[in-house]
Amino acid sequence: MLVTIETAQYVYNVVTALASGKTFPQMTNQCPECDSRVDLSDDLDHIVFDTNPEDRDALVIIVACEGYWMIDPNAVGIVSEGWMRIDEHFAEVSETPTIKPEVNATIPTTWGPWGDDGRAGV
Ligand SMILES: [Zn+2]
Repeated sequence: MLVTIETAQYVYNVVTALASGKTFPQMTNQCPECDSRVDLSDDLDHIVFDTNPEDRDALVIIVACEGYWMIDPNAVGIVSEGWMRIDEHFAEVSETPTIKPEVNATIPTTWGPWGDDGRAGV
């Protein structure tokens, strides 16, 4: 994963907070972007912090595999008005309207000199 200076600062702040025992409601080892559970053998795609070496489920994803900041950056001193919870993010994405193909065909108002039963010349 390519890490920007902003992401590095965010990771530093989150790791520092987690190491001091702070907890966050977004703490999980389940990645919402690839839907997989990270483990210690993983991991080049996610940035993960191990909050408790005795407990496999104590892994916390800090940055998801597609770059999403899992922990609220505002909670670690990084003002980020655009950040939103992943469920809110997915809801916003799904509300994006789909572009319908343009329909060029015109539907005739009458079908010709035949009657409703389909026979011509009635
Ligand atoms: Zn992932």
